[in-house]
Amino acid sequence: AKKKGGHQFVYFTEQLAALNENQRLLVNNLNSALEKGEFYLVYQPIYGFSSESVVSFETLLRWKSPILGEVGPVKFISLLEENDSIIAVGRWLIREVALQVKHWENEGYKDIVVTLNVSVKQLLHPNFLHDVCSIIRETNVRPEMLVFEITESMVIQNIELATQTLLSLNDLGIQIALDDFGTGYSSLSILKMLPIQYLKVDRTFVKEVESDGGVSHTILKGIIDIANGLQLKTVMEGVETIEQLTLLKKMGAHRIQGYFISKPVLPEIAIEFVHNDRLI
Ligand code: C2E
Ligand code: CA
Ligand code: CA
Ligand code: CA
Repeated sequence: AKKKGGHQFVYFTEQLAALNENQRLLVNNLNSALEKGEFYLVYQPIYGFSSESVVSFETLLRWKSPILGEVGPVKFISLLEENDSIIAVGRWLIREVALQVKHWENEGYKDIVVTLNVSVKQLLHPNFLHDVCSIIRETNVRPEMLVFEITESMVIQNIELATQTLLSLNDLGIQIALDDFGTGYSSLSILKMLPIQYLKVDRTFVKEVESDGGVSHTILKGIIDIANGLQLKTVMEGVETIEQLTLLKKMGAHRIQGYFISKPVLPEIAIEFVHNDRLI
């Protein structure tokens, strides 16, 4: 038994060492990814029921490392947050999106709203508003075309500063979406505190809307009612089937996003979804 225990121990530390090695490799490569131009952006279409067309896109960050290949955002974004490089990457991202919006505008797509994810470190950083303002000035983007997505779990860390910053963004013309709504320890009072225009409902509800005996259906209906009462637009995430789409439309959701419309794609492909009558 002693021998076996020893063997297990060695095995365990080897695994741990390998894990640390991987992590170190990840962090080392990530540190130079921005300057090496290894980040790029994909855009996922958001479909609006009232106009029966793609009205918006969510920007999602991608990293292709020549050494590690494609690394998923769930893996690297928390690392960017840990060592504060999310500030520089986030600033780069907002500028890229602003330039993309201008580019589409020049091509004749004048009312495409683009959303992007803002992390807590970014939002609460003392230079954030200043950076956003200078990007708007430099690129000449219309702030009304931008939506910043924030998650509730992050804003409750410093609700006062977050609210102040969101109000200032609203003043600039930038709209706010509350992301992943309904997950974590959601509290409805957040809806009273935060100046938001969109509710993005987490995909867990959509996923089970037909399978959990009406529970998700009831919750979704409630969320839509609340959103309507507060004059917020709802965006349902993770719509993968025509059945889900039909149901959500009947329930009065405003917008949907998910693989049924499209996966996140490169901007040249994303724009093809606008004014595409044969979509649904
Ligand atoms: P999120 O903001 O909730 O983004 C939606 C995620 O759901 C995306 O994953 C998207 O590809 C995925 N998704 C969309 N439609 C469907 C569907 O129909 N089915 C399924 N199963 N999944 C769907 P992705 O791109 O891997 O991003 C994961 C998370 O990483 C994002 O969740 C967001 O929290 C974070 N993230 C991505 N880009 C950024 C960024 O630029 N900045 C920050 N701070 N976070 C980001
Ligand atoms: Ca999001
Ligand atoms: Ca989300
Ligand atoms: Ca999420």
